[in-house]
Amino acid sequence: MSDTRPIVGVLGLQGDIEKHLAVLERLGARGRRVLAPKHLDGLVALVLPGGESTTMSKGLARNELVKPIQAFAEAGGAVLGTCAGAILLARASRNHPVPTLGLVDVEAERNAYGTQLDSFVAPADPGGDPAFEGMECVFIRAPRLLDPGPEVEVLLRVDGEPVLVRQGRRYACTFHPELTDDLRVHAALLEA
Ligand code: GLN
Repeated sequence: MSDTRPIVGVLGLQGDIEKHLAVLERLGARGRRVLAPKHLDGLVALVLPGGESTTMSKGLARNELVKPIQAFAEAGGAVLGTCAGAILLARASRNHPVPTLGLVDVEAERNAYGTQLDSFVAPADPGGDPAFEGMECVFIRAPRLLDPGPEVEVLLRVDGEPVLVRQGRRYACTFHPELTDDLRVHAALLEA
């Protein structure tokens, strides 16, 4: 029997690639590592995992993925960037700026929580998007998303700061949804 599951890519350069693939498989998708432009063919969605955005940005350029990923999103492909992936989606970054893809109209401040608080778990503020109510968010040297443009919806905040935003079918998430059993962020990507 042929496999009819939707195929979702995970940028395979660095980060929690296996964990994202496992979450996508749990949600009924077929996961595929993306390391070259041809791996974008036939995808319904793409995940850019966390990691280190300087390294990832260089890897995107080296693997000639910058324009193909921009074209994939511009053609309507759904995209989720988590942590370093969210930095890469932003229109620009600050605090050791890296070249970004410019797909979500926010500015990302890297390592914005300083050294003492660099990794922590926090509940989302009440009153966010009801679809994500009660979400526990795992932050690891997370960025802050600043100055969202008019097309950006803030879906969740922690301590008043946007941690999950959406611009059409593009999601930027400053925490790591692949590290908990709460599958709602990935599910939203598949439904986007
Ligand atoms: N601090 C990293 C960066 O700026 C992101 C950390 C992460 O993805 N967990 O690239």
